[in-house]
Amino acid sequence: MPRSYSVLALVGDGIAEEIVPEAIKVLEAAEEAYGLELELIGPYDFGAKYYADHDLRRGWDPAVTPDLLREVDCWFKGPVGLPEWLGKLPGPYLPINQRLDLDVYANIRPCRLRPGVEGVLKGREAGDIDFIVLRENTEHMYAKVGGTFSRGGETELAVDNYIQTRKGCERIIRFGFELARSGDYKGRPGAPSDGARRLTCSAKWGNCRGDDLFKAVFEELAPRYPEVEADYAWIDAWSYWAIMRPGHYDVVVMPNQYGDIMSDMSGALQGSMGLAGSINAGDRHCFAEATHGSAPDIAGRGIANPTSIILSVGMMLNWLGEKRGDERLKEAWRGIDGAVDRVLSEGRVRTPDLKGANSTREFGDAVAAALKEPGS
Ligand code: NAD
Repeated sequence: MPRSYSVLALVGDGIAEEIVPEAIKVLEAAEEAYGLELELIGPYDFGAKYYADHDLRRGWDPAVTPDLLREVDCWFKGPVGLPEWLGKLPGPYLPINQRLDLDVYANIRPCRLRPGVEGVLKGREAGDIDFIVLRENTEHMYAKVGGTFSRGGETELAVDNYIQTRKGCERIIRFGFELARSGDYKGRPGAPSDGARRLTCSAKWGNCRGDDLFKAVFEELAPRYPEVEADYAWIDAWSYWAIMRPGHYDVVVMPNQYGDIMSDMSGALQGSMGLAGSINAGDRHCFAEATHGSAPDIAGRGIANPTSIILSVGMMLNWLGEKRGDERLKEAWRGIDGAVDRVLSEGRVRTPDLKGANSTREFGDAVAAALKEPGS
């Protein structure tokens, strides 16, 4: 029995105002093309600008409650934060700690060189790079276990503890093996160089005890997935190998902060940060967001590439399709992914980050139109 799904949209700062409407446009096109019923809630404002515009009293529209963030089927947001307000805002951007409170422990960040996109690596063609950075999303340096020591009104010491738990390691590594097995969110399953379904474990074992645990848990779980090759790379070495032989990688699982940094690097490997989509997925909740920030250097000019957030909402539909057992949602993701590829490979509509002269809106229009084409 077809059912409807609630999808909450939040805007954010900088280029968010320009790219979020394009994600909504593509969701509406997907609804029409795949016979979905999406109940769109919002879009609501939040972020640094919202704080500034409301006497620093609150950073989000009052309609955005903790219950709403928990009750919708899924949600997505534009990037948030403006450098001039860093460290000056009285509180968080949302009424819950989105990653911890929703326990969205898997941050899925694909890196794919798409057709028609000139990559930064010489001689690499579309499909030669197609891996996923799978970032643990709740632990490590961002768990906020630590504190500061102040004397005479000055902060003299700041401590962040790197934490890693067995539960945290087990579930993200299991997720990684299952992701490599399924081939989800990839152009093609397996590594481009040899087709092997491969999960690479990347951290700094030997130096950090948390990473020793991460690797030990990986080794325990690997024999349960004989169809997936277990692979290892220290994180510093991986930052080298990802550039030297990107085609070797399929899914690469890593602790939180490493994944945060490496997924920006993989944004570059794709040809632009504006192509880097992501979802934050747990067992019960999911929210989508682009990998990049609010890009204040280009905000307000209507030239940001909306592909990142368009792909993110597509991935979000796939997650929902998996959880609700609704194949139409998964088809809608494949449709969005294919529509982006068609527009990029035709090359008629391109934003300036990809050496084009089209606007954010024109690119969103082209993807929505491609999605509605028969046979898409
Ligand atoms: P950024 O990711 O915003 O920008 C880095 C570079 O990528 C810039 O040159 C920018 O123009 C370019 N870029 C980013 N998105 C693009 C797009 N869609 N199309 C074309 N080009 C794009 O990083 P930053 O400048 O270091 O950070 C700006 C603000 O964003 C900061 O306040 C930071 O805290 C915040 N931030 C937010 C998030 C988030 O909301 N998830 C993530 C990272 C940074």
